[in-house]
Amino acid sequence: MYADLKNKVAVVTGGSKGIGQAIAARFGQEHMSVVINYRSDKTGADEAVKMIEANGGQAIAVQADISEEAGATTLLNAALNNFGGLDVWVNNAGMENRVATNEMPLADWQRVLNINLTGVFLGSRAALDYFVKNDKQGNIINMSSVHEQIPWPGFAHYAASKGGVKLFNETIAMEYANRGVRVNAIGPGAINTPINAEKFADKTQLNDTLEMVPMKRIGDPEDVAAAAAWLASDQSSYVTGVTLFVDGGMTLYPSFQNGKG
Ligand code: NAD
Repeated sequence: MYADLKNKVAVVTGGSKGIGQAIAARFGQEHMSVVINYRSDKTGADEAVKMIEANGGQAIAVQADISEEAGATTLLNAALNNFGGLDVWVNNAGMENRVATNEMPLADWQRVLNINLTGVFLGSRAALDYFVKNDKQGNIINMSSVHEQIPWPGFAHYAASKGGVKLFNETIAMEYANRGVRVNAIGPGAINTPINAEKFADKTQLNDTLEMVPMKRIGDPEDVAAAAAWLASDQSSYVTGVTLFVDGGMTLYPSFQNGKG
């Protein structure tokens, strides 16, 4: 637990399941007040609200599409109207689909870029504008991926979006650093969430993935939530513009692990 997080107000996008729900639940354990954004899964968002309340925090579930301009405004207003301010904004929502690049419909490209990259811009813009106009030393956390660094055939749109998140994250971290606003990204590796449910249910695909993880385990959403809590807290007060990989070593060139090469 981080004492300074108590009563702080956070927005978590895509908080109805997976990593976003785990971050919301962890913020509840920190006794924060959380706006949990969902797009269509109200049940999952309500579940997250209950988890937070059971842990001593406050929460509200708010429907919004973060790829649309109005979405971020809705979420900011929910934080201000329900909890009286904003301290931490987590741009977590994201999606992916496998498709060979030569066959990729423009609509697939645009959907992934709109959610994974434009959504991060729109959320960050709303939070930064509030921080600047209220002279607040706020905190932004952007959900990137190991694929901001590792190419991923079949997912060119996804890799491009996360590569974009990397430099967007670094740029706004620099742009607002002298105001005391901190901006960091998290780069998860293989995490056990609904996005991967089908893949990890298949033994061959699960073992193929484990081959790429030096620590030989799939990460839990709570591993990522712990990183988010640390980045949100004052314990990371001199950290800005980084991507904190939470990946069991996946970015360490695992094919070299057993002395090969
Ligand atoms: P998930 O599919 O379980 O959850 C994604 C969430 O984003 C869902 O709640 C979904 O409703 C929400 N979302 C999607 N589009 C939205 C929109 N337009 N508006 C509002 N919400 C929207 O996925 P996850 O594994 O929990 O992934 C969360 C983030 O972590 C994503 O950005 C993903 O790219 C990233 N990530 C995940 C992994 C992993 O292994 N699970 C690895 C690297 C990065």
